[in-house]
Amino acid sequence: MKNLKWWLTGLVTAIVATGAIVGVMIFLLFSSVLNGGKDCDSSDNPSLEVSTGVSGSYTDKNSAEYKNGKAIFEFLTKEMGFSGAGAAGAIGNAIGESGLKLHNPNPGGGVNGLFQWSGWSNTINGSRITSEGSIKAGDESTLTLENELKLVKYELTHGYSKVKHLVGKATDVQTATKNWFLYYEGMVGNEDQFGNLRETGAQWAYKEFGGSAITANDNILNNSIETTDASQRAQNDADYAQCGNGNDIEVSGEWCWPFASVPKEGPKLVGEQNYGKSDSRTNGYHDGVDFGDALYSGDVRAIHSGKIVKIMKPNDSGLGFYLIWEITDDGYGIAYQEFASDMSDISVKEGDIVNAGDKLGVSRKGDIGINDTHLHLGITKEKNLQKALSKVFVDDGTWLDPVQVIKKGMDNSADK
Ligand SMILES: [Zn+2]
Repeated sequence: MKNLKWWLTGLVTAIVATGAIVGVMIFLLFSSVLNGGKDCDSSDNPSLEVSTGVSGSYTDKNSAEYKNGKAIFEFLTKEMGFSGAGAAGAIGNAIGESGLKLHNPNPGGGVNGLFQWSGWSNTINGSRITSEGSIKAGDESTLTLENELKLVKYELTHGYSKVKHLVGKATDVQTATKNWFLYYEGMVGNEDQFGNLRETGAQWAYKEFGGSAITANDNILNNSIETTDASQRAQNDADYAQCGNGNDIEVSGEWCWPFASVPKEGPKLVGEQNYGKSDSRTNGYHDGVDFGDALYSGDVRAIHSGKIVKIMKPNDSGLGFYLIWEITDDGYGIAYQEFASDMSDISVKEGDIVNAGDKLGVSRKGDIGINDTHLHLGITKEKNLQKALSKVFVDDGTWLDPVQVIKKGMDNSADK
């Protein structure tokens, strides 16, 4: 679908993408310097051919593009724990996408920024560029290095955590470049758009910034808010809550937890997994709860009967992750998101009617080196998904506390 849109809009050139990012206050300094030097004219992309096959203004140490590349390298290695090879692979992709320009709009595809995120001037390819909250669509003043790195960080710690581990731990530049392209740029199925700038760019960055000396920092990469406690897990499994067996006809009013291993009294959630106040998120607000795989993995179950109205893929939604949207028979909208790494993890389809307890998919525990897989569960009374998604960082009552809703539902059905 995305591919088709690209062709329709005539945007054949490589860039698809998406991306995400995150930034840190450390880069305030950089951004103030770099903003002044940004080149807003993408039409004359200067080409500096050098003998290594590397081309682009980014090889000039005085250019804004060079400084952007260096800032990405330092951010990924120091803040995110990436290996030098992994960081170089990301930079190679930024070279292929934008030439390392903060502002390099592609009007047809609606994309902009270092990694050519969707959603800048239109949303035909999604709306990733606004997902973190700092960058406003079409507002050039918000397209700063700081904000773009914030977006990278946001995506790598949310829907793109797979990329964080896959690329962050990379030991060779070629693989890192390819995996960033496939999974961050979202180009699985569009491998023909890899082009020839990414890899030469990545190899250049690897040498230029001393990538060979930097190995992945597992402590930072694995930084997980959940604690793995085997005995706790066993305990949870032992007294797991029964709910709908899938054959029940009288399921209306019945609520259950999304994992069989959640005790009847509720999940064990810590810190940033909880609904509400959050130290790490936009507006200090978390619009749902995160069931981390350290305690909760395996089959993801419908928490209430209803209809699967929409299944969104990372590039469809612009959110960067898979999302199952259910409308319950008593008027709630439920978002089951982020647990799936591809469609094979989702076992329902749009239009399916589900009962409480029915399997929706599977949340795999730490697969392919990922150890922070989680199910984000959101519950709202807003039945329009787009409207609900527009309020993900807004604590205005749109998104409810899922734990409270489910508990109340379970209590009510127990009373009958
Ligand atoms: Zn969450």
